Amino acid sequence: AKSAGRGRFAVFDDALEAAAQRRLRLPGELRRAVENGELRAHYQPRVSALDGRVTSAEALVRWQHPERGLLMPDGFIELAEESDLIDAIGCFMLDDACSRMKAWQRRHPGLLRVSVNVSARQLLSGALPTQVRDTLARHGLDPAALELEVTESLLIDSGGDAREQLEELRRIGVSIALDDFGTGYSSMAMLRNLPIDVMKIDRAFVKDLHRESSALPITRAIATLAQAMGLHLVAEGVENETQASQLRGLGCHEFQGYLYSRPLAPAEFSRFCAAATAS
Ligand code: C2E
Ligand code: CA
Ligand code: CA
Ligand code: CA
Repeated sequence: AKSAGRGRFAVFDDALEAAAQRRLRLPGELRRAVENGELRAHYQPRVSALDGRVTSAEALVRWQHPERGLLMPDGFIELAEESDLIDAIGCFMLDDACSRMKAWQRRHPGLLRVSVNVSARQLLSGALPTQVRDTLARHGLDPAALELEVTESLLIDSGGDAREQLEELRRIGVSIALDDFGTGYSSMAMLRNLPIDVMKIDRAFVKDLHRESSALPITRAIATLAQAMGLHLVAEGVENETQASQLRGLGCHEFQGYLYSRPLAPAEFSRFCAAATAS
């Protein structure tokens, strides 16, 4: 019995050990991945709440790992954000999004914008406005076709520095979206002066809309707020028709979620747009 017990623990230890080893190896592997071109940008359609047409796309990073397959950002983005790796990832994503968007605009005239996630580190480095200007110019993309998503917590934590950067970005002509809205406890006073154009309601609220919970009143308050501030309102994580019609009733402009499509590889995204237009 004793040896069997030891065996079980040994297996458990091995699994833990393997996970720990992977974590230790991750920074090096990720650095190599960036250099070897193993990163991919996938694109999730955002559709108009009015007619379901694809109006924009969010670029989401993936890691095509040689042994472990396609890895989702939850497993590595936080780690990347602790180092300069996030700068390389951010740079890759911005470039990929602008270059794809330039090509897609010709093929899909209804497609207005592509959005790219920006981390605190990128925004606060001060280099983003120049990087954005250069990337847009390199691909000949109209600034109005680019949106940058920043999280609410980023703006709260960093105060004035972030605001300055956002103002400069807006002067270039790109739009700014406040991501994961409702999760970061921003004060109304802070919101009032933020240089933003778009508000994205977090999936957590959309998920609980049908329940007897605070999700509905909070979502309604967010919608009212967005309307009063003249912001474009996007709901993420829309998974069923009930949520879509509730959100439409609240005045949401755009939907993003599995009800319409998962994030897609670029070629698939282009086919999705073509199919949506044809039907
Ligand atoms: P996010 O910015 O909130 O992105 C939305 C996430 O929700 C994506 O997860 C997307 O695949 C997922 N999602 C979309 N629709 C649905 C739905 O209907 N149901 C459910 N359950 N999920 C849905 P993903 O791609 O795993 O990305 C996770 C997070 O990683 C992102 O959350 C974002 O914070 C971060 N991230 C992704 N790409 C980048 C990037 O290029 N740069 C930075 N800094 N962060 C990124
Ligand atoms: Ca986002
Ligand atoms: Ca989000
Ligand atoms: Ca989120």
